[in-house]
Formats: sequence, structure tokens, C-alpha cells
Amino acid sequence: MGFLDGLKEDLRFLGGFKVTLEQMARPRVTWEYPLEKKPKPVRLHGRHVLNRYEDGMEKCIGCELCAGVCPADCIYVRGADNPPADPVSPGERYGFVYEINYLRCIHCDMCVEACPTEAITETKLFEFSFTNRADAIYTKQELLVDDEGRPKDLPWEDWRPGDDAHTSAWMRATSPSGAAEYEGRVQWSGELGYGVRAPEGGQSGWRDDEATGVKSLREVLTLHLDDAERPPGERGLPGVLQRLRRRMKLQSQMLRPGNRRD
Ligand code: SF4
Ligand code: SF4
Repeated sequence: MGFLDGLKEDLRFLGGFKVTLEQMARPRVTWEYPLEKKPKPVRLHGRHVLNRYEDGMEKCIGCELCAGVCPADCIYVRGADNPPADPVSPGERYGFVYEINYLRCIHCDMCVEACPTEAITETKLFEFSFTNRADAIYTKQELLVDDEGRPKDLPWEDWRPGDDAHTSAWMRATSPSGAAEYEGRVQWSGELGYGVRAPEGGQSGWRDDEATGVKSLREVLTLHLDDAERPPGERGLPGVLQRLRRRMKLQSQMLRPGNRRD
């Protein structure tokens, strides 16, 4: 064995770094959680809110359907007649007691499905915890959105921009069978602070990802495909440059004031 062959043999261990070096040149998939929060999927089930109409009226009519359907028996609702002189909701009745016990809730969203008035929905916030039972039982005071239509920021919750962005207006499981004519149609009544939410994209080519919040998540995921998995137009050097531009845009969005907590 000559000197060069020997050297080659001795340096074979460098091959073990190939995977590491390749990964170093690829975009980062991990996030510095909890400093940074990743964009959440539009349908993530988080902390509930009780919504109000654009005129400030409460959407809840105290029908108790959510409580009836809840598999964990964690909702307690009592309805009452609306005072004629000062009605709380547009219906005959309103929910004057509303409680969710988060020690029992499994975030199945069946309450959201059952609600006839879109009163109860879930935000994207799952970063909340408590040290006593009383804090874990959210009453109407905590659940009802404020005068701006935003969820109340409780001391044991970690709200960041975007956690309330897609609280409602997602397509229900009971929505149509994917027929294109049903897509892109708003199926949610207007809400205080948000107005009429954008409809969710469906199974056809029609999408409005910018409006529904899927876009940033999809961009992060596509950064991690191998070249062969990409559409032909996004392979090779042009694809690399395209992704680099996208990555810089994403990073500048993440570092925007208010999007990270230092
Ligand atoms: S998300 Fe499910 S478990 Fe939680 S309150 Fe609603 S129905 Fe009950
Ligand atoms: S949240 Fe909806 S389902 Fe529950 S009591 Fe109010 S209106 Fe009825």
C-alpha cells in the first residue's frame, strides 16, 4: 500500500461527517421554543373563547348543546331569558353561566361542532397551565372575548401574536364533500374585532393560504424536501436561490418585533 493509499484509508473517517456537513447547509427545522413560537396549524385546538357579534352582542344563546355533546362532561351552561330592555344576545335567551373545566377537557372540539351560533371556538393557544383547581375552571368572565373581540390574556397564559388569529372560520368536519362550488365561501358570521373571517381553502386548486395562515407553515416544511421530491421548476440552483429568498423572508418575519420574546 503506497503513502497516498494509506492516507486515503486513514482519512476515511471523514466520510462520517458527510451527513453532518450536508445538514449544516440545510435550513433549520427546529425552533427556539419557547423563545419563538412556530406558526400553528389552522385547525389546532387550543384554549376556548366565547365569541361576540360585530355589534358586541354575545353569540351564546345558552342552549346547552355544547355541554350535552361534551364527552368529558366538562362544560356547565345555564341559559336565562334575555332582559328585554338590555338583551345580551340576539336570541330569546343567553348563557348567563358558562364554565369549562380544563382539568377534564380533551380539546376534541365537539362543543365547537355542536354550537348552532358559532359562539364557542378554540384559539391556537395551548401554552397555559395552572397551579390550582379554581384557575383551571374557566368561567364566562375568562372565556368571553373582550371589547376588542380578543381573548382575555390571563396571568398563566402565554399569548403571542397569531395565537388568536384563526380562532374560528375553519371548515367544520360536517362541511360538504369537497365539491368545488362550496369552496371559498364564508361560512361563519362576523365577529367583534375580526369581522367576517376568510374562508378556508378546500380540495380543489383554489387556495387562499395568505388569509388562512397555512402558508408560513407550508413554506417551512418545503424547505426540507430533497431535490428529487421537488417540482422540476424548483430543483437545482434556481430552486436553491428561490428557497434562500424564502428563508430570509421567513426569518425576517420571525424576528419582527412582537413575534419573539427575548
Ligand atoms: S373540546 Fe371536547 S372535551 Fe373540551 S369542552 Fe369541548 S367538547 Fe368538551
Ligand atoms: S356555546 Fe353554543 S352550544 Fe353552547 S350553550 Fe352557547 S350557543 Fe349553545
